Amino acid sequence: MSAGRYAPSPSGDLHVGNLRTALLAWLWARRSGREFLIRVEDLDRVRPGAEQRQLDDLRTLGLDWDGVPVHQSGRLDLYDAAIARLDRDGRVYECFCTRREILEAPTAPHHPPGAYPGTCRDLTDAERAQRRTERPAALRLRADVATFTVEDELHGTYEGAVDDFVLRRGDGVPAYNLAVVVDDAEQGVDQVVRGDDLLPSAPRQAYLATLLGTRPPVYVHVPLALNASGRRLAKRDGAVTLGELRADGIDTFALIADSLGLTGATPQEVLATFDPATLPTERWVFVPPG
Ligand SMILES: [Zn+2]
Repeated sequence: MSAGRYAPSPSGDLHVGNLRTALLAWLWARRSGREFLIRVEDLDRVRPGAEQRQLDDLRTLGLDWDGVPVHQSGRLDLYDAAIARLDRDGRVYECFCTRREILEAPTAPHHPPGAYPGTCRDLTDAERAQRRTERPAALRLRADVATFTVEDELHGTYEGAVDDFVLRRGDGVPAYNLAVVVDDAEQGVDQVVRGDDLLPSAPRQAYLATLLGTRPPVYVHVPLALNASGRRLAKRDGAVTLGELRADGIDTFALIADSLGLTGATPQEVLATFDPATLPTERWVFVPPG
């Protein structure tokens, strides 16, 4: 199977930037004859009722998908199995660092700012036993590369940093980078269309995919929606959800299609003439009405 996907976190309502990315993911998948899957990334920050409203908004926009949405919260066994496999390969170690300790640690010369400096990589058994009495360990990947290269349909060949990133957090929750790689591989997702704020995390995920024996997907990191001050659009920026825009008399689909230079009143109509080469490459500044 060959599939694309949209993977919202049910932490609140989708805003027009999220919906725009969802439409692009749908167009890319359908244009290439792929299935289109919805995955609910509900390991964290779940707001009651948000998932249903998100799915309703996607349907209102005219998007359809194959099968039923899967939920990450129902797939913990898969994440455990992946970590166990990496552990058997000697690829996992416990990390006891707090966020502050990582920020304050001196950065190794060949590591980019913010990268994990490897503090817990080579603890002795005795040191680990001592630290376990102090706080629960996160699990980190023992990476043997400092960078990795991915292919992106909009950004071309992209090389980015890989560090010993977290696989499972100290509170036991599987880390985002692990869960998406496991899910994409297991679901047959070989095309990942998402906001370009996630481009820097693609090399880590692609590297992890190779360690788990799967081929990294084709990436398409599409321009993000920004607010008037040039920051990532958020719900606090005003009337940005489908419901809020409708209350202001605005057709969200038409608004999104116009922002992308697409013609058609429905996703199917847009698909008939969709050509990625004509999409705007700059980020989209959205100023809510009112
Ligand atoms: Zn550590």
